[in-house]
Parts: sequence; C-alpha cells; structure tokens
Amino acid sequence: MYVVGVTGGIGSGKTAATDFLARLGITIVDADQASRIVVEPGQPALHAIVDRFGERILQEDGTLNRRALRDIVFSNDQARRELEAITHPAIGDQLRRQIQDSDSDYTVLVSPLLLEGRQKDMTHRVLVVDVPGEIQVARTVNRDQVPMEQVEAIMRAQLSREERLALAHDVVTNDGPLERLHQQLEQLHQRYLELARRHGG
Ligand code: ATP
Repeated sequence: MYVVGVTGGIGSGKTAATDFLARLGITIVDADQASRIVVEPGQPALHAIVDRFGERILQEDGTLNRRALRDIVFSNDQARRELEAITHPAIGDQLRRQIQDSDSDYTVLVSPLLLEGRQKDMTHRVLVVDVPGEIQVARTVNRDQVPMEQVEAIMRAQLSREERLALAHDVVTNDGPLERLHQQLEQLHQRYLELARRHGG
C-alpha cells in the first residue's frame, strides 16, 4: 500500500486537507484517533497503564482519566517516557492495521507528530500543510476558544515551520480560502495516484 503522510502544526489545516482527500475516496488513517482507540477499556495498553500508574488514572466507568494521567506525566519525564513506551508501539500497531485494511488507491496517514518520531517510517511521502504562525494561532483560538498563549506554547513544543518544511516532499499552503487548498490537493491527488500505480506495478 502506498502511504502519504500528512502533517502540519496545530491548526494548520490537516483535517481540512484530509476531509477533502476523503471525499475523493482516499482512506484516511488518523494518528490522533488511533491514540484514543488504544486506551479504550479492554485494550492491552490501558491495562499496562493501570499496572504502571494505578487505578487512580481510571474514571469510575473504567475509562481513562486523561487529566489525571496528564497531571502525573506533566512534570515527570521518567513517567512520561514509560507512558510513551506503552502507548507508542500500540499506536504504531493500530496504524499499521488500519493501513493494511485500506483498499483505496493510496492511503493517507495524518498525524501532528508524523515527523517527530517513527511514524514517518510508515509513509512513502510526506505532505506538509503549511501556514504562517499568526494564522495558526488565529484559527486555533477561534476553533477551540482557548487563550493565544496556550496555542503558542503548543507550537513551541512542535517542530518549527522550517524544520517541518525541510522534511516535506510536498507542501500545500493554507493561508487563503479553502478552495485554494482544495485546488492544490487536487493536483497532488493526481500525482499520488500515479505514484501509487507505479509503486504497485
Ligand atoms: P489540529 O492539529 O489542531 O487538529 P488541524 O491541522 O487539523 O488542527 P484544522 O482543524 O483543519 O487544522 O483547521 C484549524 C481551523 O481552521 C478549523 O476551525 C478549520 O475550520 C479552519 N480552517 C482550516 N483551513 C481554513 C481555511 N483555508 N480558511 C479558513 N479557515 C480554515
């Protein structure tokens, strides 16, 4: 399966981009969604998290208390690494399974952390959704109704725009109307269909 990785900073338009590709019939495998699935009740990763951090990270109904877990790992790097040693392989397995199950002409793996870790190894090509920082902040504040400082703090923890662009094979610029984004994606979609054909043939 030919896999195109899609990434970009917070509020850059990853969802806007992948919604459009989904409408063209492409399967979208979403790392954010996978990270939620692997900690659902009954999943091995949730058991492992409870073994390590105790029942205090569960809510009364047995689901993960994300806030409690976040509070524990927030100021404890060792705990964070142990948590990631549980969740990252589980997320990787989940993504690989979903990619395997996909039957579209190519598959998109969308992830905010595609380039930070090993997820890029699952892809053949990297598409970055690029916007200036001011637009990222404005759109995210507007969408999530959160303070600007909070968005800026998240941006500082992510790769810089330059680092991300340096790792891109393809870039779409999302600083204008959505139609402009869609036009760029339509062209790339044709290119990806061709690359996927060559990859398979
Ligand atoms: P995150 O990493 O936070 O999940 P994202 O990269 O998926 O974000 P989106 O949710 O697609 O980003 O876009 C962020 C916000 O900006 C959304 O409210 C979306 O509707 C809006 N948006 C995206 N692209 C455009 C555009 N070209 N014009 C106007 N608004 C846009």
